Amino acid sequence: MKLLHILIVLIIPFVGISQEAIEWQEELDLEQIEPNTKQRIWLKMIDDGMSHPITIPVIIVRGEKPEPVLGLVAAIHGNELNGIKVIQEIVEEIDEKEFQGTLIAIPGINGISITQHRRRYIDEEDLNRNFPGKEKGNRSQQYVWQINNKILTKLDYLIDMHTASFGRENSLYVRAALQNDTIRQMARLQDADIVLNSNGLPSTNEQITATRTMRAEAMLKGIPCITIEYGNPQVYQPEIIQRGRTGIENIMSWLKMIDKEIDHPEEPVICQKSYWIYVEEGGYLEVVVDLKQKLKKGELIAVMRNPFGDVLNRYYCPEDGIVIGKSSNPINMNGGRIIHLGIYIN
Ligand SMILES: [Zn+2]
Repeated sequence: MKLLHILIVLIIPFVGISQEAIEWQEELDLEQIEPNTKQRIWLKMIDDGMSHPITIPVIIVRGEKPEPVLGLVAAIHGNELNGIKVIQEIVEEIDEKEFQGTLIAIPGINGISITQHRRRYIDEEDLNRNFPGKEKGNRSQQYVWQINNKILTKLDYLIDMHTASFGRENSLYVRAALQNDTIRQMARLQDADIVLNSNGLPSTNEQITATRTMRAEAMLKGIPCITIEYGNPQVYQPEIIQRGRTGIENIMSWLKMIDKEIDHPEEPVICQKSYWIYVEEGGYLEVVVDLKQKLKKGELIAVMRNPFGDVLNRYYCPEDGIVIGKSSNPINMNGGRIIHLGIYIN
């Protein structure tokens, strides 16, 4: 017995923190967070049908002084996982005794969809097209309202972490409003293949209706925000995660939150605009170009066949560009995506 007791005492410190030990909270009360601490909480968003709280994991690292407040939000689309691992690795590495400012890191903001391997929310809505949400709206609107009011209002800077959708692959690329000096700097600190200039602000119509993205919502609030696309859905990609980590650590160094030299990444390809090229018939599509490949106008990009293998169509690049993303699922009906073509300037 005695030996068993000693063994348990020795083993427990290595088992880690059980989830039961982490309390859930109604609000993120930053005033209550002690300086030089790293805290984990379950933040309540809504209730489920059993009147139980539906919560999301939030890690708060608070330095000696509370400013600036940097938000890292992963997986508003529930099948986009690489950002979750980026956050976990970054938080593990931070020494809260040496930290400055406040980090609010959310490894999985759309918890319900993550556990169901789904991109969309439980009501089939895209949470990232439903900002600002509605306090008394439908299911997705109320969830978005919680994100907007409980999280975005606390932030000075925001990094919005995504990947490609099901059936597609992405390079590591950043969407950012490059005319804004702060945002351009945030984008350049990423170890990205491509930086795509994308204004991010909602159209007048989107300002009236609740259809904007989280990035648009942040920017309307005056919070500098970039969206980072970390590769492919529903997988962990170690190389992408490592590069993602470098980019976020660079931002924290630049904001003087950590004392680490900025690891200057290679110059990305800068694109002023981009668009998808779609198929014009249904069938089996073979995309013959690679991610990040630079293409010339007229170059073959894909071949479409019917189920018997007969060629129905060949698709050619409409202008010089670079492959930002591409389809990985051969089966397509009319309007299926072929490649996401970036038009680069450098
Ligand atoms: Zn996404």
